[in-house]
Amino acid sequence: MKTIGHLINGTIVTDGARTQDLFNPSTGEVAKQVSLAGKATVEDAIAAAQAAFPAWRNTPPLKRARVMYRFKQLLEEHAEEICRLIGEEHGKIAHDAMGELQRGIENVEYACGVPELLKGEHSKNVGPAIDSWNELQPLGVVAGITPFNFPAMVPLWMYPMAIACGNCFVLKPSERDPSSTLFIAQLLVEAGLPAGVINVVNGDKEAVDTLLDDPRVQAVSFVGSTPVAEYIYARASANGKRCQALGGAKNHAILLPDADMDNAVNALTGAAFGSSGERCMALSVAVAVAVGDAAAEAFIEKMRAQMQGLKVGAFSERQNDFGPVITRAHLDKVVGYINSAEQQGAEIVVDGRNPSVPGFDNGFFVGGTLIDRVTPDMLCYKEEIFGPVLLVVRVATMQQAMDLIDAHEYGNGTGIFTPAWPTGIPNRRPTPCCFPGRLEKTTNESVCSLRHYLENKQN
Ligand code: NAD
Repeated sequence: MKTIGHLINGTIVTDGARTQDLFNPSTGEVAKQVSLAGKATVEDAIAAAQAAFPAWRNTPPLKRARVMYRFKQLLEEHAEEICRLIGEEHGKIAHDAMGELQRGIENVEYACGVPELLKGEHSKNVGPAIDSWNELQPLGVVAGITPFNFPAMVPLWMYPMAIACGNCFVLKPSERDPSSTLFIAQLLVEAGLPAGVINVVNGDKEAVDTLLDDPRVQAVSFVGSTPVAEYIYARASANGKRCQALGGAKNHAILLPDADMDNAVNALTGAAFGSSGERCMALSVAVAVAVGDAAAEAFIEKMRAQMQGLKVGAFSERQNDFGPVITRAHLDKVVGYINSAEQQGAEIVVDGRNPSVPGFDNGFFVGGTLIDRVTPDMLCYKEEIFGPVLLVVRVATMQQAMDLIDAHEYGNGTGIFTPAWPTGIPNRRPTPCCFPGRLEKTTNESVCSLRHYLENKQN
């Protein structure tokens, strides 16, 4: 069986110590294994990055950008292969994988502009006979730790820009679907990046802790679940590193009673069930502002009908709308949330537990699930489900809907369905962010806009 190794100093190596099974979630079979890097292997990667740094930082930005141009071309040439690797290990269907890759390539395109982006500034006479200038310098060895749900895109958020700026990178991707990530990093080497500038170590907590504790690592970028984000942020900053840590989400949409429900249903079908709900921007809660319950009833009836046509199945079959979830354990977790909703008194309107997927009986499938009459005290509401499950919460007023969103522990994004955005109301953030002090959670501009909209309405 194939074992996925690490990319260190331009060469693929395996650690030899520990391995973990890699599943094809569509079939439920163990397809490969991944080598889990121990401390010494991660230290080799850090040493390779540090050795490559002096020459790379002195490489003109224009030459660094040329590598990115070639990288972009290789990503496009190998797009289908990358999407197949994503599908085999993540379960994502082809058009979702292609969308993810395209979003990733956009970061490479941005990095191609690095000669312009790295320009500094000069101020004359900031004091008597004193000029001042700033210039942008690379930090040295920087690290990225990434989640399973976007094995191509999230790493591409991180290292193209870091590397184009002159840093050297050690990436620790998710150990649940590492193949596409490793393949993409190899394409960057093929594009002409000198050995050691990008290194990939597969592994788990041991590899992560080594990166967080090693004094040669100057900065850490993390994307994943909130508990791990908090841990990474605390440990990296305690060690004096710069750290950005993005965590989990629970994204809400408000449905106003006079919303265009056909439009809302179409938009929410993709947002809630696409990629099996395994997106940090998945929209998992519809808050129906239900004057006389009319909005909720209209939405639910249309959504129920739309969901009859939703098809869950293997990543490889083009007619499917979404694929399996990542592992058997995650499948059990998602089903556990649906069970808990039922036990706590919510109404399962469309039940995706145990869907029939002929020919793929052992795959990790959950069908699209719609749950009505969810209340904020329920477990399914409080936690991130990360599966194809849409909750409906009924409230009486728009103010209650906004308060609900504001009070939730998780942020990321929100939406509002109205007949049309009112004219004369800017849909940009007029006030400082709504979630001050939540370092690991993305702030929520739309809530601020909604508040502004409501204030204007009341005035
Ligand atoms: P995860 O937190 O389990 O894993 C993320 C990374 O952390 C992996 O590389 C993993 O190996 C490592 N890790 C896991 N446990 C660790 C531990 N105890 N100590 C040190 N390292 C550890 O996340 P996941 O399940 O792979 O990804 C899904 C999560 O990521 C969801 O919560 C999703 O919302 C979030 N996410 C957020 C964004 C965003 O932009 N905010 C984007 C994508 C995904």
